[in-house]
Amino acid sequence: MAEIVTVPCLKDNYAFLLHDDATGRTAVVDVPEAGPILAALNDRGWTLSDILITHHHWDHVDGVAELKEATGAATWGHAKDAERLPPLNHAVSEGDTFEIGGLEVRVLDVSGHTVGHIAFHVPAADAAFTADSLMALGCGRVFEGTPEMMWESLSKLAALPEETIICSGHEYTENNARFALTIEPDNDALRTRAEAIGHARAAGRPTVPSRLDEERATNPFLRAHLPDVKAALGMVGAADAEVFAEIRARKDAF
Ligand code: ZN
Ligand code: FE
Repeated sequence: MAEIVTVPCLKDNYAFLLHDDATGRTAVVDVPEAGPILAALNDRGWTLSDILITHHHWDHVDGVAELKEATGAATWGHAKDAERLPPLNHAVSEGDTFEIGGLEVRVLDVSGHTVGHIAFHVPAADAAFTADSLMALGCGRVFEGTPEMMWESLSKLAALPEETIICSGHEYTENNARFALTIEPDNDALRTRAEAIGHARAAGRPTVPSRLDEERATNPFLRAHLPDVKAALGMVGAADAEVFAEIRARKDAF
């Protein structure tokens, strides 16, 4: 059995603990700051064995040195981006697999937000840790890659099993919902989800993680290939990645 714990950090970041009951091994995905993660481990009596890093941005790695010092955990990150990451014990690439206790972790290159962003798919936990690639009702800004690259990365994640739990890096969902409704105002699943998100946030509850099937049904950044979405944007016949680029540009200006 795998357990996943969401750990709010900083203002609106999320880190996640991944715990394998059978072996007691525990990993954390991203370390915006060490304090809340150490507290979450302590609350459960868990010992950290591994630190999984998605990408080089400060709000995902700033606490790595302190956490590693406190726990002796081993670091994992993208081989291609090793010079920009905290020192890695294990450098991994697209298609690699490794284990946290008995849980297989598959590495997906999901570059676009940064070049060298990875996601960790854990099939036995029905979970993917996506940070600033696929987010709840959104996706990360395309800072370093191209829209084509980001569309390819998101398509890779969209192809995971529909019950996959998407553990993403930020609580941006309420704003994402407002934007999504400008693209698909008549999408009933989106309207229902936007309302639920409003209620959750008003009650101080997180909207992350989410499920891949709800993202496919409502997240405009996973829907750029759909004829209805292309038509709504006046882009009938345009390439999927071009439509994605238009949606991303509109969100950047939203
Ligand atoms: Zn980032
Ligand atoms: Fe971030």
